[in-house]
Amino acid sequence: MPSVVQKVLSIPAVVEDVSFEEIDGREVLVVDVRAYARARSRCAECGRRCPGYDQAPTARRWRHLDVAGRQCVLRASLRRVRC
Ligand SMILES: [Zn+2]
Repeated sequence: MPSVVQKVLSIPAVVEDVSFEEIDGREVLVVDVRAYARARSRCAECGRRCPGYDQAPTARRWRHLDVAGRQCVLRASLRRVRC
C-alpha cells in the first residue's frame, strides 16, 4: 500500500505509513515519509551533505494536494545537520 500511495501522489521519498488523523475536526490523510538515503543529512541552505547532530524534536508536516476531497499531509522527522 505505501508504494502505491507513493506512486499515486508522486512523492519523491519513501512512504513508510499511511493513516487517517482528525485534525481541526476533519479526517486528514497523513502520509509518513522519509528521505531517500542520497537525500539524507543535506544542508537545507546549500544542499551539501553534512554531519548530522540530532533529530528535529517534532515531525515536520507539509500539505499535499487533496485526495478524494480530503486534506492530505506529508509528515517526516528530519535530521538536523551542521554545515
Ligand atoms: Zn550548507
